[in-house]
Amino acid sequence: MKTDILIIGAGISGTAIASALSAYDISLCVLEKTNDISSGASKANSGIVHAGYDARPGTLMAKFNVAGNALYPEMCERLDVPFRQCGSYVLAFCDEEVRELEKLKARGDANGVPELAIHTAEAVLANEAHVSPGVVAGLYAPTAGIVSPYELCIALMEHAMDNGAALFLETPVTAIERRKDRYLVRTPGRSFDAACVINCAGVHADEVHNMLLAPAFEIRPRRGEYFILDKYANGIAGRVIFQCPSKSGKGVLVSPTVHHNIIVGPNAEDIRERDATETTAEGLEEVWNSALKSIPELPRNQIITTFSGVRAEPSGDDFIIQDYPEAPGFIDVAGIKSPGLTAAPAFALFVEEMVRTFFGGLKKRKDYRAERRRMIRFQELSHRERAEQVKRDPLYGRIICRCEGVTEGEIVDLIHRNAGARTLDGVKRRARCGGGRCQGGFCAPRIIDILARELNLPKEEVCKDSSASRILTGETKGKDSAQ
Ligand SMILES: Cc1cc2nc3c(=O)[nH]c(=O)nc-3n(C[C@H](O)[C@H](O)[C@H](O)COP(=O)(O)OP(=O)(O)OC[C@H]3O[C@@H](n4cnc5c(N)ncnc54)[C@H](O)[C@@H]3O)c2cc1C
Repeated sequence: MKTDILIIGAGISGTAIASALSAYDISLCVLEKTNDISSGASKANSGIVHAGYDARPGTLMAKFNVAGNALYPEMCERLDVPFRQCGSYVLAFCDEEVRELEKLKARGDANGVPELAIHTAEAVLANEAHVSPGVVAGLYAPTAGIVSPYELCIALMEHAMDNGAALFLETPVTAIERRKDRYLVRTPGRSFDAACVINCAGVHADEVHNMLLAPAFEIRPRRGEYFILDKYANGIAGRVIFQCPSKSGKGVLVSPTVHHNIIVGPNAEDIRERDATETTAEGLEEVWNSALKSIPELPRNQIITTFSGVRAEPSGDDFIIQDYPEAPGFIDVAGIKSPGLTAAPAFALFVEEMVRTFFGGLKKRKDYRAERRRMIRFQELSHRERAEQVKRDPLYGRIICRCEGVTEGEIVDLIHRNAGARTLDGVKRRARCGGGRCQGGFCAPRIIDILARELNLPKEEVCKDSSASRILTGETKGKDSAQ
């Protein structure tokens, strides 16, 4: 298949770049090796839109963090993605940590982070009543926010597809060759012929780079583990509560989520396997004990699930966003560790500029649509709006997920949108079904029925997440079972 631009990887880097480039009159393909968008680090992170005081001034991380943060409110409104600018605190528990806050503030000021301030313990406790009384000061950043990272990736991809981009799932890139002035990109099923290739392969970005060019950097996997607490714990933190950063990262945070849960984590563990996203008893215990230092009353009985994500730690300790004179049109977007989620909307514009230069200019699409069709979120409607919606489409009158109040109408819609759901977890990432207290105990069988019906699949072929995660093997009371 021939295309102008080919993007490898449908995480936040690939989808943000696809969304930005979909404004132009060019053909664009996104190749993703798994069976859904946002399957790597972009689905398993803290979901924080960082203010931008962590990164060293002068780095790409610092530049794109602050610029990306500023783009979030407009982008999330335009794409109808849940986002809240709730602000953040970094807590100090001793004089040495207060000096650390001063360094962070100076760094933030140098990076251009607006309105940073160091608050006294009294001010911190007046704003966050559940923080430990041992706190002595807090660095306040009002521009920090929270977002649903996978809903954002899905919205960006849907937006790109609404504007003509093509998505190929279960399409792992296995080889790249330069052929005259174009690239032949091989996958097990088919080959693609592209003028420009953008490597957004996350923790595998060095492997993809090495398919074409001599090794230039290394990516080391570093895992972080988390707890999610039920909505009853909501109120224990109104802002993102960080501790002072250490050598291995930003430390354990306690934060509200956009869906009114509480997230607690992550730790930082260097691992060998790049896709090892299991959680460990030791790692989770470390996270919990560390979080108690910030909020001693953290309610353990409200834990509803745990997960982990793997950071792509680059050997050079900064994002690698570059092209190469020996391979014109090949662009690496690699080593996108934290704050990659925050920075992506800004570095997508930077990559857009690189692509524009490569093609010697880009023409805007005449029929470009900047906004994504809005979702109907039944729980957020007034009683009158709900009644009207059920009248228009009776499927909105059938609640499927009781914990999150999601209707059949919403599930059917998100299956049939561009970049629609194909699996149980795909539905969960798009509409929260199975993300509540029962974790899918009640709604999973009903969602399997809906997926099978809408996608015209046998129920046995509906997967939980990856294509290896089949759920059903057959009927217990079918005609072949014992009477
Ligand atoms: C524990 C943790 C906490 C974090 N917290 C935050 C935070 O709060 N705020 C923030 O701003 N950032 C945070 N980050 C960083 C952020 O999550 C990452 O920077 C971002 O998700 C990286 O996105 P990506 O698209 O580059 O990579 P990924 O999301 O990993 O996407 C890469 C994609 O490429 C695909 N792929 C790989 N190889 C191939 C191939 N050969 N062919 C086809 N497809 C391929 C993968 O399947 C994957 O879908 C955190 C990261 C972690 C792990």
